[in-house]
Amino acid sequence: MEQIIDKTKPVLVTGASGYIANWIIKYLLEEGCTVHGTVRNPDSEKSVGPLQKIAAAAPLGTLKLFKADLLDEGSFDEAMAGCEVVMHTASPFVVRGFKDPQEALIKPAVEGTRNVLEAANRTASVKRVVLTSSVAAVFGDNADLRKNPRGVFNEEDWNFSSSLQHQPYSYSKFLAEKEAWKIHDAQSRWHLVTINPSMVGGPALTKYSHSTSIDTLRSLGNGRLWPGVPQMRLGWVDVRDVARAHVAAAFRADAEGRHIISNGEPTMLEVATILKKHFGKRYKFPFFELPKVIVKWFGRLMDASAKPRFIEQNVGHPLKFDNSRSKQRLGLQYHPLEQTFVDHFQQLIDDGLIR
Ligand code: NAP
Repeated sequence: MEQIIDKTKPVLVTGASGYIANWIIKYLLEEGCTVHGTVRNPDSEKSVGPLQKIAAAAPLGTLKLFKADLLDEGSFDEAMAGCEVVMHTASPFVVRGFKDPQEALIKPAVEGTRNVLEAANRTASVKRVVLTSSVAAVFGDNADLRKNPRGVFNEEDWNFSSSLQHQPYSYSKFLAEKEAWKIHDAQSRWHLVTINPSMVGGPALTKYSHSTSIDTLRSLGNGRLWPGVPQMRLGWVDVRDVARAHVAAAFRADAEGRHIISNGEPTMLEVATILKKHFGKRYKFPFFELPKVIVKWFGRLMDASAKPRFIEQNVGHPLKFDNSRSKQRLGLQYHPLEQTFVDHFQQLIDDGLIR
């Protein structure tokens, strides 16, 4: 069913300080929208400073910030008042450095989604919710593709292999998206559109994001993965394309359902080789692929998150996503991945995040 969205009404963006949300807000402001952004700590210069810069460079639109925490029931109500579109991006994207995955990942992802969507149920103006889900809700391990009858992941697929113990971040995204569809299906006023990006790269508008995807690209140039990387493929997509997908999902009259946002599945060595071609020998880019048995052995020493089951199920396996729905339904045109990686690495250098 088609649904006309009034672009003069404010748009809520949760997790406004995040890597992806910054770009969404930039594009919304450039279109002249009023954006209600939520942050956990409005007194934090690290959260608010980059947003103020984005707003100053886009005088057509207006940015208003509100304090809200995923775990505080009702804390999104004030920011949501009068909005037709709610974009829910806030969720922790961390894969290491925590003890309890339930507290660090599952609780904020699932309870946060419930809190935001229950606020949407209470807010009569809301017509559409755009949820930042992930391909992590679509699949768990690369090895799962071998059980896929199509040989390619698409929007009909759901992650069946992650759990609290194995790939808990992916599990948190799976549970959060399932919860969102459950709450959506129990009402009829607002539509749900999900954006399911793969690993996001491309320049950040903030130096302070803790997003794992930024850390992944940085680790290819800071020596942490030198001299060799596992033979592993990841889906990658440009942050600017992910943000454009959110904006299209918000305003296109016919937007509905899930959308995989991904633009290729290079190996880690292929990404490193692109960076080496552009940035030369100044950085310690890995230059060969480690045999799987070595990855298993050293992975455990280097990184507690590189558990044997993760390596077994992901290293040396193919990976493929079908992004055709994002092109047809959201009109998405993807940046070439080479540009994504080069622009991102340049921003890391410019911001002093890599030496
Ligand atoms: P990010 O920069 O770390 O942003 C995460 C945002 O979530 C931050 O604004 C953070 O706020 C907020 N947040 C975390 N816990 C919160 C809580 N308890 N209450 C309120 N806000 C909270 O990461 P990102 O990469 O932009 O990720 C944004 C979304 O995209 C997430 O839903 C993530 O799962 C999804 N995603 C990311 C990728 C990727 O590769 N980057 C791929 C697929 C999907 P603070 O600034 O206050 O910490």
